[in-house]
Amino acid sequence: MALIGSPYDLRVSLGEHVPEMDMRKALETGELGFVHSFTTGSAVDGPGVRIVAWLAGCQFRCGYCHNPDTWKITNGIPVPLSRAVEQIKKYRHDLQTMKGGLTISGGEPLVQHRFVLNVFKAAKEMGVHTALDSNGFLGDRLADADLAMIDLVLLDLKAMTPDLHRRLTGMDNAPIHQFARRLAAAKRPIWVRFVLIPGWTDDMAEIERIAAFAAGLGNVERIDVLPFHQMGRFKWEKLGMDYQLLNTKPPSRETTEEAIGKFRAAGLKAF
Ligand code: SF4
Repeated sequence: MALIGSPYDLRVSLGEHVPEMDMRKALETGELGFVHSFTTGSAVDGPGVRIVAWLAGCQFRCGYCHNPDTWKITNGIPVPLSRAVEQIKKYRHDLQTMKGGLTISGGEPLVQHRFVLNVFKAAKEMGVHTALDSNGFLGDRLADADLAMIDLVLLDLKAMTPDLHRRLTGMDNAPIHQFARRLAAAKRPIWVRFVLIPGWTDDMAEIERIAAFAAGLGNVERIDVLPFHQMGRFKWEKLGMDYQLLNTKPPSRETTEEAIGKFRAAGLKAF
């Protein structure tokens, strides 16, 4: 199975042949990762031009997820650490020239935190910039020393109000805030990602609360407001899952600008 592919490809059951014992060992040692897809030439997943590994496995159940096939770790392709490191070696000079690096995204990469740390360690040894695109919930899996392996965290902030966050994702948001504060204390930069969804996350008072939290951290370098889109709809349909956002439209330009304005009003760089 070719590793290169778009996160918008539907991928299922590619790791199901891996025996349970080997799967457990992979999670403990990080010698094997389950990878949904791998892309090159990204200009939107951190600074410069980047390669991006999209890992399988996520504990959230966001109703608007555009990659629900990444939820199950066994939907990913089993990739030995050595092969992942080879890929970085192949691109490292180009990445340095283009002031980019490696981003690990998902799914939720910290479901496979040992693999992530092994890959980041190898990247850092090659002088490649590392970015982790995470929902932050499993941040306590990273020791303080591990944070030094991560040059940038792209952190999803979905909602501040706990009930709303639970409705959106199925999970509590306190661990995310704790992780963000730890990153701030360790002076590791954060770029916040906020998905703007009409009827779900477009309450401007709630956006102001997110902006106040992000601004208070002191290490948030930028905010990206990501307008909701329907590119993942076909996956929900193909997987036979109940997609509650079937008829939700992308936000208007005015609403998007208003949301960006809320972040800017809190003193943040927002786009
Ligand atoms: S955290 Fe990301 S990958 Fe996980 S369910 Fe939510 S949107 Fe999907």
